[in-house]
Amino acid sequence: MRDPRYDILFEPVQIGPVRTRNRFYQVPHCNGMGHVHPSAMARMRGIKAEGGWGVVCTEECEISPLSEFSPYIEARLWDERDIPALALMCEAVHQHGSLAGIELAFNGYSAPNRYSREIPWAPSNTPVRGYDPVQARAMSRADIQQLRAMHRAAALRARDAGFDIIYVYAGHDLSVPFHFLTPRNNRRTDEYGGVLENRVRLLRELIEDTRDAVGDRCAVAVRLAVDEQMAGGLCREGEGAEVFSMLADLPDLWDVNVADWSNDSVTARFASEGYQEAFLLGLKSLTCKPVVGVGRFTSPDTMASMVRRGVLDLIGAARPSIADPFLPKKIEEGRAEEIRECIGCNVCVSGDHTSTPLRCTQNPTMGEEWRRGWHPEAVKRADEPGRALVVGAGPAGLECARILGARGMDVALVDSQRTLGGRVALEARLPGLASWERVIDYRLDALSRLASVEVYRESPLQAQDVLDFAAEHVFIATGSRWRRDGLGRALRWVLPGLECLPVLTPDDLMAGVLPPSPVLLFDDDHYYMGSVLAEHLVARGLDVIFVTPAADVAAWTHNTLEQHRIQRRLLELNVTIIPSHTLVSGMPEGVLAGCVYTARTSFIPAASLVLVTSREPEQALFQALNNAPEQSLAAGISTLTLIGDCMAPGTIAAAVYSGHRMAREFDAPADSLFLRREIPFIEV
Ligand code: ADP
Ligand code: SF4
Repeated sequence: MRDPRYDILFEPVQIGPVRTRNRFYQVPHCNGMGHVHPSAMARMRGIKAEGGWGVVCTEECEISPLSEFSPYIEARLWDERDIPALALMCEAVHQHGSLAGIELAFNGYSAPNRYSREIPWAPSNTPVRGYDPVQARAMSRADIQQLRAMHRAAALRARDAGFDIIYVYAGHDLSVPFHFLTPRNNRRTDEYGGVLENRVRLLRELIEDTRDAVGDRCAVAVRLAVDEQMAGGLCREGEGAEVFSMLADLPDLWDVNVADWSNDSVTARFASEGYQEAFLLGLKSLTCKPVVGVGRFTSPDTMASMVRRGVLDLIGAARPSIADPFLPKKIEEGRAEEIRECIGCNVCVSGDHTSTPLRCTQNPTMGEEWRRGWHPEAVKRADEPGRALVVGAGPAGLECARILGARGMDVALVDSQRTLGGRVALEARLPGLASWERVIDYRLDALSRLASVEVYRESPLQAQDVLDFAAEHVFIATGSRWRRDGLGRALRWVLPGLECLPVLTPDDLMAGVLPPSPVLLFDDDHYYMGSVLAEHLVARGLDVIFVTPAADVAAWTHNTLEQHRIQRRLLELNVTIIPSHTLVSGMPEGVLAGCVYTARTSFIPAASLVLVTSREPEQALFQALNNAPEQSLAAGISTLTLIGDCMAPGTIAAAVYSGHRMAREFDAPADSLFLRREIPFIEV
């Protein structure tokens, strides 16, 4: 039964002409599927509705080739031919009694129109965002009228597709109505520039147009970034609140957040749950219309408190709904402790940035709902439930055991350590990564509910132990260890001179070893590990010199919206950053580094060297078993499967996915395992 403290979350809310059954609101979020993979997108959204989200929105939706977002894959509603793909999503959402929302977007100078080659539009002449050698042109009055007409036509198409809530998008510094609001983008001298009343004009007109076009049947929502968290940007205490007040009761719903995207979707490393509250507080008193806002909400107590304290009417979520599409249902059914909480890593964002279907560290089914037919809460029972042994309880082993158990198998999960969780248990102790522990917590809780799963700690297994176990299916999830020889991306060979100074790996530091200072940390991994270790060392009073072959610190974290914050933090901690350099050799009292562009080398004095380069799969156990097939057969082992980092080291998301996939697929006929894909329609 539901805890009465959370009843408030299940109250219906009237939004203009439509009514949502509860306060759970999946705000627009990118997914790397959009118009290219519409069936996949529809299925993913439908599962959110099934899981209890009262409102389920699209991502940004292009309304015209005059502003298209390539190479990013978003929704598209250029003309009537795009309606069926989005109607598919509406049907999937409506099937479960939820409302479907669509975020109509015209990105202006934020999109260089790489595909359509149209000249982007902006309030005033300006280079586009990013480094494309493209300038946007100032919109004429006729352009403004055309934009209004395009937006209106798109709203009508959205209504015809079946949407219940239609957005005017002025968020993230990503759309023209927002660009008009901000003086740095809007230097116009006509009635659309100058005083705030003029700069708000376009947004006001778009809201009125949309209401006029579809307001009898659809709610009109506005997504507004009320604060940009930058000097000279729109500010909550200034024009952000003024814009909100000026338009207070014009839309049917306010979806309020901060800009840009990296501020809106901050990772857990840099902000905790509810981090937008300061910007949301007080807005509700300025309007009589419902307000939705976000803050990586995963706790039902926090959600209920946001409503009770009058901060929000609707609990907005993108990431928490990705990590657990069934979050509302679990609260409703009194199973709140079963929520698969978002860890705030932004691996999901990387899908959008790399134009591929999104993925999630916590929810391995995300993005796979249609193409692999995976459901986040249901797995097929094994036809022949037998005995399974999973060796290693890192993210791969934990997830594998969870799914095998859910499939009705008898499972033994064995780990050499007392503390389960493998690399996650260690990494979660590094600066800013505590919430990653949720990867373990969720799975240990799930395992504790599965009567057929036994967990054995402090049990290092050798090949003979595995044979003696007499399991039919053996999964090896023994992980990986960081290399100590420099081999990685920049160096495809062992670094010479390693005997000249103390050399440590991330495994050593996570085990508590402290190197002599100053430490030269060579980061050829380019994700989070190098920078969190630098923070870890500085916190212990050591001087750190951070050397990377890339131009930026932690270059891959551009994909998780963190790069800027990471580099800023290291600079603030006085870490010496030497970009665009690789290592040539270890030397007594230092390291010889080489410029990646020229043949120039330089000696960098250091007392120790930390190598964050690549990892070696821990395959000894697998090889011992694999090399003795007769013994395995005699012991009754019919399948032997490598999963996670011990197959190929990667992200935690990849390890969870690997464990999940193998647990679902190890007994499936090969011809049943195909990846569904959407075939482009050929117009003849
Ligand atoms: P992954 O990310 O693939 O899950 P991890 O490195 O996080 O891999 O976890 C591997 C786990 O396997 C660790 O907890 C480690 O203690 C355990 N392990 C490694 N070798 C053995 C072994 N021979 N017997 C039991 N446990 C093992
Ligand atoms: Fe949360 Fe990470 Fe999943 Fe994104 S990928 S939803 S941030 S757990």
